[in-house]
Amino acid sequence: DFPTLASDFYGFENALADHEKEALLALRLDAESQLKPLVNDAWDKAEFPREIVDVLHRHPLFGQLWGETRTGEYSALYGGWSALELARIDASVATYVGVQNGLAMGSIGVNGSAEQKAHWLPKLASGEVIGAFGLTEPLSGSDAAQGLRTTATPDGDGWVLNGAKRWIGNATFSDITIIWAKSTVDGQVKGFIVPTDAPGYTATKIERKQSLRIVQNADITLENVRLDAAHKLEKAESFRNTAAVLRLTRADVAWAAVGTAIGAYEAAVAYTKERVQFGKPIAHHQLIQDLLSRSLMNITASIAMCTKVSQMQDAGTQRDEHASMAKAYCTTAMRETVAMCREALGGNGIVLDYDVARFHADAEALYSYEGTREMNSLIVGRAITGVSAFV
Ligand code: FAD
Repeated sequence: DFPTLASDFYGFENALADHEKEALLALRLDAESQLKPLVNDAWDKAEFPREIVDVLHRHPLFGQLWGETRTGEYSALYGGWSALELARIDASVATYVGVQNGLAMGSIGVNGSAEQKAHWLPKLASGEVIGAFGLTEPLSGSDAAQGLRTTATPDGDGWVLNGAKRWIGNATFSDITIIWAKSTVDGQVKGFIVPTDAPGYTATKIERKQSLRIVQNADITLENVRLDAAHKLEKAESFRNTAAVLRLTRADVAWAAVGTAIGAYEAAVAYTKERVQFGKPIAHHQLIQDLLSRSLMNITASIAMCTKVSQMQDAGTQRDEHASMAKAYCTTAMRETVAMCREALGGNGIVLDYDVARFHADAEALYSYEGTREMNSLIVGRAITGVSAFV
């Protein structure tokens, strides 16, 4: 029998196909034995150990997960469970995969030409090429659809990019970065595959981050970066094409949020069974059991929502608002859960060695990236009312 996680209270993992369960178990064992021992030190030092890439690219996590272009034998449901499994060990590790597979490969998978897919996707899947995704700018976050200032100007048979990007994950060591920029011709957002050794491209690590300290983010500047036509994503003609990528990746952020909550919850369960106060393990006290049981309720409701969204993704029926609801709900439930788990550890809940402090801090980045809770709530609000309330 497949050993479902104790924190998967209703056994949702059983909806996976047999080969997916096998792959998930192999990922779980590698993540526990090879990644877990690294993460607290790496977090403390704000470093991204290369071993993370080596371990992850041995698993079927890359290149099979986006809607109509999905070619592999793994479902979106498997993609979701693998995001949960990784975040359960460390949210930065899940974020690396989210950027490489979802945002970078997803941009090419959804919007690239046949040649662009054939050239880049195998290299990104193997880890030979590292990718990043540059949408957010210093002056434009939530309003990316309207507010982008980076420009793309036609130049002969190619394009010239100028502007700045902020918060770009994996970009301190990426070989290519997908850059979203507004065309000076039609004012629409286009996507470009930018080699990071292109003259005029620079990336600078964002220092002193207090959340997701293992995954590295960069500020990027683009000064007259010239690209030939082959570097423009063929089908990326407006922000709708950007949104088509985010629709897929947001569901995986919801799954990663559940994994982050589970990481904190599992640490809290173990700790409260050991820690003795008033003559008995604190897990025997009613109020501690209430914290644990409310945590498990949040986790269980979130897994149910994520399962349905991924199944809709597999069926081709998932819309923006479905992913947005899962992202907003699951990150909110995660935030409450990690706070309850931190509380259950008392003072040790703020010390890195007991794990919960890391999950607690990392939850904040997941809550805000790939659309804040407010933005995702407004996407749901638009679906309810037919009215966009963003502006
Ligand atoms: P703002 O847009 O300035 O928002 C600030 C606050 O105002 C939020 O609470 C927001 O919800 C609220 N707000 C704004 N407008 C409204 C409104 N109309 N109504 C109600 N409330 C509103 N971006 C990338 O392109 N690539 C990446 O790889 C990437 N990785 C990231 C990793 C991390 C760790 C972080 C923190 C961010 C990352 N981002 C990345 C950027 C991320 O997507 C943005 O931070 C996010 O979209 C929010 O934008 P902002 O930070 O500029 O906040």
